Amino acid sequence: MAKLIDGKAYAEALRGRIAVAVASLKKNHNLTPGLAVVLVGEDPASKVYVANKAKQTVEVGMNSWEHKMPADTSEADLLAIVQKLNNDSSVHGILVQMPVPKHIDSAKVLNTIDPAKDVDGFHVVNVGRLSTGQDALTACTPVGCVMLAKATLGKLDGLNAVVIGRSNIVGKPVAQLLLAENCTVTIAHSKSKDLPGIVRQADLVIAAVGRPEMVKGDWIKPGACVIDVGINRIERDGKNKLVGDCDFASCEKVAGSITPVPGGVGPMTIACLLHNTVKAAAAMKGIKTPEM
Ligand code: NDP
Repeated sequence: MAKLIDGKAYAEALRGRIAVAVASLKKNHNLTPGLAVVLVGEDPASKVYVANKAKQTVEVGMNSWEHKMPADTSEADLLAIVQKLNNDSSVHGILVQMPVPKHIDSAKVLNTIDPAKDVDGFHVVNVGRLSTGQDALTACTPVGCVMLAKATLGKLDGLNAVVIGRSNIVGKPVAQLLLAENCTVTIAHSKSKDLPGIVRQADLVIAAVGRPEMVKGDWIKPGACVIDVGINRIERDGKNKLVGDCDFASCEKVAGSITPVPGGVGPMTIACLLHNTVKAAAAMKGIKTPEM
């Protein structure tokens, strides 16, 4: 049976280290990192995410601001708020919760955020820095995946990593991070041929597809590490259930280690957002990022 990778415990420990780093920035540099989150509209899932982000930001000792705007907010008004936050020196991280309503161009919004405050890591400047091997603020879920893989496997050098999914928010950045860790990386997607055969080559599988329980146990190389990013809500036995992109029951019999859903990658995302905010605050102050 695979070892269970406890993302909840890992994220809790990381938040503990972040709180220590924040306390040291306050004490030694009179610096309190601050995160501003902008939410446009009433999407219930987004409201829950934003509330969790604010709660955890405060818990580690940072400043938190929430800007809630109605669904009919114009693109110009949203861009004006982003500009205001760009110019506010007490704000070190800016996050506009996605998705934004359809009448707003999300790429334009993301690229209006000052790259130095882009704690979601979606600005083209940060994406470019990541892919050219420069220090960058990097997307949170991918960073969380790689942290869990390294905590489980140690060095990733030379491993065959297969990333299933090529989205800008998960698949592509996680592939870049794994390349930077000296993995041999394959990115699979909906047009890939013989996906099970590709996945069978992997020492490390990152599944970011959005299809419930698609990856089966007989796709997994015995002993491989499986990081399941998927969050899918399904009905089973009359109950509402969260499942990943991997069929946990069959994969855990073959894998060496595996993340559960929930409780695997999910909790890492906010912890990495806080991590990025501390990093951004230290960089803005011109000091070294504290160990976390
Ligand atoms: P997207 O829908 O943006 O991308 C899905 C990717 O999977 C695409 O590249 C698509 O290929 C590929 N894909 C779809 N079907 C198949 C298939 N049958 N075989 C192979 N590849 C396929 O999703 P995201 O990257 O945004 O999210 C992926 C999952 O991760 C979702 O379940 C999401 O909820 C979850 N997630 C979890 C987070 C967290 O834990 N905090 C954060 C972000 C996402 P193509 O490009 O060819 O269409």
